[in-house]
Amino acid sequence: MAEQLGIRLHIIDVIEEYKNVLINPKHGYGAHLNPCLDCKIFMVNKAKQWLAENDFDFIITGEVIGQRPMSQRKDTMPIIAKQSGADDLLLRPLCAKNLAPTLPEREGWVDREKLHDITGRSRKQQMEMAEQFGLHDYSQPAGGCCFLVDKNYSAKLVDLWQAQGKKDYEFDDVMLLKVGRHIRPAPHFKLIVAREEGENRFLQGYTNTFVNLASVSHNGPLVLLDGEADAQDIHLAARITARFGQGRLAEQVDVEVVGTDGMARVITVKPLPQEEMPKSWYI
Ligand code: SF4
Repeated sequence: MAEQLGIRLHIIDVIEEYKNVLINPKHGYGAHLNPCLDCKIFMVNKAKQWLAENDFDFIITGEVIGQRPMSQRKDTMPIIAKQSGADDLLLRPLCAKNLAPTLPEREGWVDREKLHDITGRSRKQQMEMAEQFGLHDYSQPAGGCCFLVDKNYSAKLVDLWQAQGKKDYEFDDVMLLKVGRHIRPAPHFKLIVAREEGENRFLQGYTNTFVNLASVSHNGPLVLLDGEADAQDIHLAARITARFGQGRLAEQVDVEVVGTDGMARVITVKPLPQEEMPKSWYI
């Protein structure tokens, strides 16, 4: 997007600092694990710091009053400006005419008359503007670019927190929650099953960190085992691995199990039938 607009893009790594926003949001969560109001305050605050350090004049965002139920309401937008510390250096060009004039408008750095008064959930006006400006390649609206508004992703994050007994995560955890089918046959371990070739390749990058399984007598997905598993658990994991491969209806499937030390062994199992996999296992 920055390339299309001809602007310089600076990416700021906030992975560590953002944890506190997601784990302890002062203003709570939205429909899922999306801490939108705290998230906006945090992001605008980061922009404010950048502005101060790099001698910029003000901040713009694409917010629109009424567009989102939590963070883009007439009463919450001033909270973002205030609690982020940006105050009236925060200009929202798409709905500025519905808000009090900010410093850039009052000082005449931007012409308020040229700004907009868009309200509500419809993206029609923004899409018309994009069309006018010849912009066709933009991310999907309605939170489509954020995993935290996704019900399934949020469920996997809650499961992760429950399994580790605390609300915390590492970068690899959040990456892995995006990939594969997550199945928890017992509280102490879960399986991540690749759903297609791209995911297989992605999970391959984690085979040094997790015990991993794959069918060798038939084609099938790579499966990572996350947690502590004894011999009986490994046997069950191998049966599940076989169940997701082309040998699902075979009498026997050979499954290779590779430990984190790289030691591999092959065990022969009967694929677990679908009816023995309760829905509650799927996260
Ligand atoms: S949708 Fe996601 S990125 Fe956007 S404000 Fe909410 S939590 Fe933050």
